[in-house]
Amino acid sequence: MSASTNLIDIQVPDIGDFDEVSVIEVLVKAGDTVKPEQSLITVESDKASMEIPSSHGGVVKEVKVKLGDMVKQGSVVLTLEAPGAAASAPDEALKPAPAQSPPAQAAPEKIALAANTSVPALAAASFNGAVDLDCDLLVLGAGPGGYSAAFRAADLGLKVVLVERYASLGGVCLNVGCIPSKALLHVAAVMDEVSHMASLGIEFGAPSVDIDKLRGHKDKVVGKLTGGLAAMAKMRKVTTVRGIGAFVGANHLEVEETSGTAQEKTGKKQVIAFKNCIIAAGSQAVHLPFMPDDPRVVDSTGALGLQSIPKRMLILGGGIIGLEMGTVYSTLGARLDVVEMLDGLMQGADRDLVKVWQKMNAPRFDNIMLKTKTVGAKATPAGIEVTFESAEAGGTAPPPQTYDLVLQAVGRTPNGKKIGAEKAGVSVTDRGFINVDIQMRTNVPHIFAIGDIIGQPMLAHKAVHEAHVAAEVIAGELQGNKELASAAFNARVIPSVAYTDPEVAWVGLTEDQAKVQGIKVKKGRFPWNASGRAIANGRDEGFTKLLFDDSPEAHGHGKILGGGMVGTPCRRHDWRGGAGHRDGRRRDGHWQDDSPASDAGREHRHGGGGGARQLHGFAAGAQVIVGYRNKPGATQAGLFLGRKKKLQPTVE
Ligand SMILES: Cc1cc2nc3c(=O)[nH]c(=O)nc-3n(C[C@H](O)[C@H](O)[C@H](O)COP(=O)(O)OP(=O)(O)OC[C@H]3O[C@@H](n4cnc5c(N)ncnc54)[C@H](O)[C@@H]3O)c2cc1C
Repeated sequence: MSASTNLIDIQVPDIGDFDEVSVIEVLVKAGDTVKPEQSLITVESDKASMEIPSSHGGVVKEVKVKLGDMVKQGSVVLTLEAPGAAASAPDEALKPAPAQSPPAQAAPEKIALAANTSVPALAAASFNGAVDLDCDLLVLGAGPGGYSAAFRAADLGLKVVLVERYASLGGVCLNVGCIPSKALLHVAAVMDEVSHMASLGIEFGAPSVDIDKLRGHKDKVVGKLTGGLAAMAKMRKVTTVRGIGAFVGANHLEVEETSGTAQEKTGKKQVIAFKNCIIAAGSQAVHLPFMPDDPRVVDSTGALGLQSIPKRMLILGGGIIGLEMGTVYSTLGARLDVVEMLDGLMQGADRDLVKVWQKMNAPRFDNIMLKTKTVGAKATPAGIEVTFESAEAGGTAPPPQTYDLVLQAVGRTPNGKKIGAEKAGVSVTDRGFINVDIQMRTNVPHIFAIGDIIGQPMLAHKAVHEAHVAAEVIAGELQGNKELASAAFNARVIPSVAYTDPEVAWVGLTEDQAKVQGIKVKKGRFPWNASGRAIANGRDEGFTKLLFDDSPEAHGHGKILGGGMVGTPCRRHDWRGGAGHRDGRRRDGHWQDDSPASDAGREHRHGGGGGARQLHGFAAGAQVIVGYRNKPGATQAGLFLGRKKKLQPTVE
């Protein structure tokens, strides 16, 4: 970009692999006021289409391109009159994006750069003892973040050691989280669908549940995946070390060897020296201090153990994890109560989506206790007696109740304070999170952190994506590969999914957030009772909605800022002509599904519709992040691609 007084030429930034691309849309005209990051033109190669945004805000003086023009890096798109713009360095637009606060989503805690002054930097301890192993990269924790980082780094040629305290790799997600819960949710969904058939004239009779066999199935699913990871580690020559790791210096980690199915210490220790480290030590369930130590009180790990089916079950906390587990237990025969401090279940999702879920699920619950605190619990022969208090001043509390099983699902806490981070000089927040910059770097330049331990949202797909960024930055720096070294995590939106029945999924800005943030949005809503497929399935209660920027600056061409979907099963719907297309607005490219029809964006642009279709992927379990791993400077361009290439949104 070049500048004279306050006239700026906005140029096409580095667009990766593409030499020349054609202009297929011009989105602004002379006289328009544009904001920084507002899309100016859309360009297309044979592989991708992408939007070129403005690096500055101002008034368009002259548009220098027209439809059909071929442009490349450096081509001038338009001249902008920017108030007080100073001459900028030529590659300013290519620098890593600063911590952004896009309207679409609150910036996660990690976006606060490592130089966060609220967390004092610590002096690292120095370690001069004997070393048993050394490596380019040590990864602490083998969850989705840890194993993904280790594998990516090994593929890039680094000597990698992966430290994990448990016997199997895969962390929470594979062992006691996403995978086992989805295995059980699948069973519950089939059972529910079969029982629904009765109303259509097909009776299968009451199900008979062999809980041992069901548990065995779930364990087999987990074993298959975690066993696969061990084989993949071996194939890549990643050295796995079993034990509890704690830093003893800025370049050394001590591992206390563990054995058995839990964390039994063998008494042996070893020290690993590393050039770089990625902390991927994850999180664990929060336990309320007053809960009795009793097998009838479980967290999500205990619930997944599926020891028996209770008659009465209390879910403590109305979030996704609790409600997913509640779905499984209720389909297997339990009656549910849920207690939640806030005024609604499934916080984070728009209320209109949750309302549909709640209506469908009302028969599962005896009591939905909102704005209610759990204040005590006592183990009695009859069950766990739980007492409540109203969370509102002067409110009435429900009477104490006795349950056969109490599931504590009140959140997860990061493991940041359990790894001796201070000995490495790594700052940890009071809550146990580790702050990183957009390259996943902590306040100690050669130590990175990823996944649950760096902040919300605590989701496996986020951890995997961050893992790839950190591994690439480290490999790039060690190998002098500038391109790899410039990787950055710059996801604009991260989708969330509740795999309940119906499924609830949302991404980007919600209507509630739009209201709070004063963002003017227009809504496209597609009710599934207008879908032949949903009606044919007897499940037309759902809907899809997309939110568009309706600010005056959008000139009626507002970007999609967010979307949501509720319904079951989302994956079976092909929402051509869905809400995204309804009012003829163009798509923006803020997210992408990983369904076989990943070209939805392209199709949409050509009038095929598909904003909603794009959503179906994540609602169905395709957990996708759109972001840009490489070329942080290019992150400004909204881009659709179905394949992995340089300068493309990574689809994990
Ligand atoms: C019931 C449940 C269902 C879920 N469902 C989903 C879902 O559907 N989709 C989704 O995206 N997310 C889901 N999640 C969240 C997901 O599991 C986490 O976001 C994800 O596992 C985080 O990955 P991670 O690599 O950061 O950490 P983790 O998976 O927590 O892995 C950290 C690893 O580090 C190890 N470790 C910790 N400290 C040490 C130490 N000192 N020494 C050695 N090893 C150590 C741990 O043993 C663990 O294996 C679910 C979670 C739960 C509990």
